[in-house]
Amino acid sequence: MYSNKNTIIFKDGNFVKAQQETANYFTQSQHYGYAAFEGMRAYSTDQGTRIFKAKRHFERLLHSAKILHLDIPYTVDQLIKFSYTLLEKNNFKDAYIRPLLMGGEQMALLPSTQPSLIICCWKWGKYFKEKKLRLMHSNYKRPHPQSFHLDAKISGHYVNGILATNEAQKNGYDEALLCDHNGFIAQAASANIFFEKDSKLYTPKASNILPGITRSVAMKLAEYMPVPVEEGDFTPEDLANADGAFLTGTAVEVIPIESINGKTFKLDVDETLGAALAIKYHRVVTRKDGHSITYF
Ligand code: PMP
Repeated sequence: MYSNKNTIIFKDGNFVKAQQETANYFTQSQHYGYAAFEGMRAYSTDQGTRIFKAKRHFERLLHSAKILHLDIPYTVDQLIKFSYTLLEKNNFKDAYIRPLLMGGEQMALLPSTQPSLIICCWKWGKYFKEKKLRLMHSNYKRPHPQSFHLDAKISGHYVNGILATNEAQKNGYDEALLCDHNGFIAQAASANIFFEKDSKLYTPKASNILPGITRSVAMKLAEYMPVPVEEGDFTPEDLANADGAFLTGTAVEVIPIESINGKTFKLDVDETLGAALAIKYHRVVTRKDGHSITYF
């Protein structure tokens, strides 16, 4: 699904065939998840292919790299250019783009030198085949903010999300909703959550979540609607009493939530702000909305 014999990846300054490359099996990235990555989507628009929020994503990659003390020897502009070239080389107009920064050889828990950066891309249609999601309150909690840098996209963090998603899907749900260590709702495994109550939006504050780029776009879109958005600490009960809810993320885009632990929200999904924002978001990323050119 992700590559074939013609797939090209960017690897440390060169464009090479993915299937002819081998990984180094003696890195902290392989063994301990000590790596940083990003996820972006490129959309086909009337003005050609556009990587949505490429600058913000690569800035976040540089931030994640800094936290891991790994160097990326390229500027954001260079990284964006490599990504567009990569799309061309793979003949992709719409695609998901995944830069991954790995440490060099090092089996001890000591600083790792000589990092390696790859960028790969693949066709990734809708992340969820459903148009509205059934979430499960996870028994897993988000990592403690003093144990990890939750605002960075660091590979090892994602074990938590994979465990939570597996648990949810084994129980017949589409996705997991995790609380933070204080019991406040935090986010889904790889997406942020909003809920609406009396035409106002609420979303967990940035401290114990990965505050996504799509989250900030959704907040901006809400501002233009105009719909007030409050960031704060919210309990599972606050969410249970909401009128509707939705998830945001680059891969999942904006997607309404139908129910949590089998309990549906008060409004029909089509009447929710999540459904309206999903349409607006799609117009923005494909540049069919005047705002997308001026503001996004
Ligand atoms: N939380 C986590 C843990 C994620 O992996 C993602 C996807 N990158 C998000 C939230 C949403 O972030 P963004 O909107 O920047 O894609």
